[in-house]
Amino acid sequence: AALLALSALVLPTAAGCTQSLRTGDAGGPSATVALLLPERKASRYEAGDQPYFAQKLSELCPGCEVDYRNAEQSAATQLRQAREALAAGAKVLVLTPVDSVAAGEIVAAAKAKDVPVISYDRLVLRTAVDYYVSFDNAKVGSLQAAALLQALGAKAAAGEILWINGSPTDNNATLFKQGAHAGLDGKVRVAAESDTAEWNPDNAGAWVARTLPALRGRTIVGVYAANDGTAGAAIAAMKAAGLPQVPVTGQDAETAALQRILVGDQYMTVYKAIRTEAETAAVLAADLVRGKRPAAPATVDNGAGRVPSILLDPVTVTRDTIASTVVKDGFVTPGALCAGA
Ligand code: BGC
Repeated sequence: AALLALSALVLPTAAGCTQSLRTGDAGGPSATVALLLPERKASRYEAGDQPYFAQKLSELCPGCEVDYRNAEQSAATQLRQAREALAAGAKVLVLTPVDSVAAGEIVAAAKAKDVPVISYDRLVLRTAVDYYVSFDNAKVGSLQAAALLQALGAKAAAGEILWINGSPTDNNATLFKQGAHAGLDGKVRVAAESDTAEWNPDNAGAWVARTLPALRGRTIVGVYAANDGTAGAAIAAMKAAGLPQVPVTGQDAETAALQRILVGDQYMTVYKAIRTEAETAAVLAADLVRGKRPAAPATVDNGAGRVPSILLDPVTVTRDTIASTVVKDGFVTPGALCAGA
C-alpha cells in the first residue's frame, strides 16, 4: 500500500501533465505585464530596455507575457496606451513616463484596477507608485560636469559653453540638470542654455543652429549635452557652422556616441547598465504578479510619499575607459564599435 501511494505521488496525472505543458512552468502564474516606454529616438529603449526586460520576465515567469507599447514622445499617446493595456488585462504596469506629473493619471487608472505600477527609469511625480527602478540621476549630471571640467582644464577660463538639457517634463532631466549645475556653476561661463522639448535631438540641433549666429565673436570651448542624442545633434550643428571640435558630454553609451568618442568628436558619455536596470524591473514585476512585495534598499520622495526604490550606479566613459567599462560589461562589442570604420 505504501508503494502504491508513493507511485501516485510521483507519476504525473494526464491532467497535470497537459497543465504544465500549457503554462510552461508547472502551474506558475500566467499574466500580462505592460511595458510602457516613452520614445524611440534614444536607442536604449528598443535595443536594450525592451528585449532585456522581456527576456528576464520570460525566464522568471514563463506563463507571463509582455504588452510592450512605445509612446513616441507623446504623453497623450502614453495615457491612451496605458488605458488600452489595462483594458486588455495587464496585471502590472512598468512605466517610463513621458511626462512625470501628467503620468499621475495613468497611475490612477491602474490603481482603480488594483494594478501595481513600477516607475521605470523616470520617476512619476506627485502620485504614489509602488516601486521606482532607476539610476542615481543627480550623479549622472555630476559625472558629466566633472568630465567636462577635466576636459576643459585651463581652457574653461578662455570662453563659454553651450548647455543643452533634456525634456522639461522628465524628472530625470531635472536631476541631470541639477547635478550638472552643482558641478559647473562658478567654474565655467554659460553662453546659452536650453531645455530640449521631448528630448528630441532635432530640437537640440535646431537650437544650436539658431543660437550660434547670435554668439558670433564669442569663444565656445565646450558643450554640456544631457544625453547622446542631443550631443550628436549639437556636434553636427557645430560642424555645419564650421566651428572647431570642443569637448562635448553625453549619456547612454549609444554605439554612435562611442564611435564619436573614438574619433574625438565627443568627449564622454555616461554608461548606465540598462540590462541590470531592465532585469531588476523584471524581477520586481514577476514578484508583483505572484502577489509578493519585496522590500527595496532605498526610498525616494516623489511628492506623494516615499517610493521604495532601487537606484543603480552610473559610470563615466571616455576614450580611455571604453574597453574597461562598456566593452568589458558586454554592453557593446568591439565589432559593433568598429563597424564602418
Ligand atoms: C533617460 C535617458 C534618456 C533620456 C531620453 C532619460 O529619462 O534616463 O537614458 O537618454 O531620458 O529618452
